[in-house]
Amino acid sequence: MTSDWRARAACRDVDPELFFPTAHTGPAWAAQVTAAKAVCRGCPVLEQCRAFAFEGLRFGVAGGMTEQERGAHRRSRSAPGRRGRRAQRLDQVRDDRYLGRRLLADGVSPRDVASRCGVSQRTALRWAAALRSELEASAGEAS
Ligand code: SF4
Repeated sequence: MTSDWRARAACRDVDPELFFPTAHTGPAWAAQVTAAKAVCRGCPVLEQCRAFAFEGLRFGVAGGMTEQERGAHRRSRSAPGRRGRRAQRLDQVRDDRYLGRRLLADGVSPRDVASRCGVSQRTALRWAAALRSELEASAGEAS
């Protein structure tokens, strides 16, 4: 049963916030990720959790991996042919854009977003401009 392993999770009695770093970059982010991974390291159901996280968890540390590590692993697991490589690249672009826009919406600077998502500052600025227009459009609709 899917939920059986959860009853044995090492994080069961740990504040769930630990697994969702509030920092986005730098030493603070690294320290938060390290703390969460330390719990995972001693978890008896790490493998089950990791398999679950690969399939269904987009954000946070789970199964001893960050969301970026899971995304990279997912992409590297699929052995792409010519069409597959294109699909894989599109998946990566979509993931990067999704994460980038989320970070921008949280107030992270385009420069940090570029570094975190592995894109150029120009791309991060483009995402920021698109996000601003969407917010302005939805504010216009609401008034
Ligand atoms: S691997 Fe980590 S996130 Fe997953 S159940 Fe264990 S402690 Fe929790």
